[in-house]
Amino acid sequence: MTEQTASALPYQYLFGPVFSRRLGRSLGVDLLPYKTCSLDCVYCECGATTELTTTPRTFVPTDDVIAELDDYLGRKPDLDFVTFAGSGEPTLHDGLGTIIADLKRKHPDYKVAVLTNGTLFRRPEIRASVLQADLLVPSLDGATPESFRIIDRPEPSIAFDDVIEGLIALRAQYRGTFVLEVFVVPGVNDSDHEIASLREAALRIGPEAIQLNRLDRPGIFPWVTQASDELLARIRGQLSPLTVFEVPRRQPGAVRRMDDDHVRNAIVARLADRSFDTTTLAFLLGYHEGLVAKHVRQLLSEGKLRRIPDAEVLPEGSPKRLVVTTAAGLPRSPSA
Ligand code: SF4
Repeated sequence: MTEQTASALPYQYLFGPVFSRRLGRSLGVDLLPYKTCSLDCVYCECGATTELTTTPRTFVPTDDVIAELDDYLGRKPDLDFVTFAGSGEPTLHDGLGTIIADLKRKHPDYKVAVLTNGTLFRRPEIRASVLQADLLVPSLDGATPESFRIIDRPEPSIAFDDVIEGLIALRAQYRGTFVLEVFVVPGVNDSDHEIASLREAALRIGPEAIQLNRLDRPGIFPWVTQASDELLARIRGQLSPLTVFEVPRRQPGAVRRMDDDHVRNAIVARLADRSFDTTTLAFLLGYHEGLVAKHVRQLLSEGKLRRIPDAEVLPEGSPKRLVVTTAAGLPRSPSA
């Protein structure tokens, strides 16, 4: 669940903004000393975990993080997301909920994403800390105790069943966009049995989508290899009827196609038999939400999409969202 980091800012806890393959223009917030996590994943871009813990603490002063966010966001930068990620597991900071609540109150124009390893949500206070985020991306790399242990190397007190139950409880409470991320490690979590377990767990959790990730730079361990396109296609088929996407590949030097026809076609293709709100669509397509919203409105006015009333697809109490589908498509719930 790490996200690429870079810092051009005179701040201690903010990094970027980076152009993220998944989140567009994203301002990172890193609440933890390098590298503090409840897992020690074999694919981690940050390297080995130095503090393996499940105990939340005030790792860095909550007020100082809030002050940096106020200073930066007060300049009204153009961002897709303020993203809690970085060099560890953000839910380990006991001020996360306070910081997100403050952000939403003082800077309501900015969307908040939390990239989390998903291991601590059995605890009600950890679930409460992320409920105000607009986008949650919890990981679920190993859907059996064996693959969880091999890929994610958890802190010893973490029980696999608690992780699944925690994600189910979180999904039941959370009203924003919920995308489960699965890092595919060939030879470990790609067997028929593993994918069947993942499918079963995901159907119980009920994410809006599953995003498949894979190694795209040299790993730490030679046995962690890159999943092929064929493997991801096979897994996608086996996870039906869940909606499954891939993290766009890093393509050094490649120019991402942004012309109107390309974006419009991508939106219509994604909505072929589904409904999505514009935040989820932008995340899954890897485009700026403003760009996606512009084309969605245009497609609506042309009668090529139709809007689905919130009450039909969103749980009571959800924030208002523009949920659309293709005119011929089935009005399925985004969380179906
Ligand atoms: S959850 Fe895994 S990938 Fe994310 S920071 Fe911890 S060890 Fe790294």
